[in-house]
Amino acid sequence: MCLSKPSQVFVVLTLPSPLGAFFFRDSMPAFNQRSRDNLDQCHPDLQRLFNDVVRHFDCSVICGHRGKAEQEAVFKAGKSKARFGESKHNHVPSMAVDVVPYPVDWQDRERFAMFAGFVLGRAIELGVNVRWGGDWDRDTKTADETFLDMPHFELMDC
Ligand SMILES: [Zn+2]
Repeated sequence: MCLSKPSQVFVVLTLPSPLGAFFFRDSMPAFNQRSRDNLDQCHPDLQRLFNDVVRHFDCSVICGHRGKAEQEAVFKAGKSKARFGESKHNHVPSMAVDVVPYPVDWQDRERFAMFAGFVLGRAIELGVNVRWGGDWDRDTKTADETFLDMPHFELMDC
């Protein structure tokens, strides 16, 4: 009896991927309604990218489009360097999106960087030309940046 249990577990874990996906689908991360609403305000390429990302790396979309009042508020708070009209968040649909790993820990910068690396890798795979707010000049270094916006991703082909 005791010996049969490990072999049953082994069989489940080695199922072919379509059947395996069925068994493990309940544990796959998904956006909550607020994240979906924010992502719906973004360009289809950003939607395609982050709908893919969330299946592998749980995350929350904290901002999509930003109107004038909201943009001026984040500028005054020092959270953005852009006035209204200068940020890709101000486009309709939004060409920028702010996404954080879930559950978010704002002190855990390593996790933000790990998440960004995952996003950038998936973006290449999906053919989405995107830039991360932790590496504005896209040289793969963060230490040379004067302003880090860790949740920020924006499209470059626009
Ligand atoms: Zn942003």
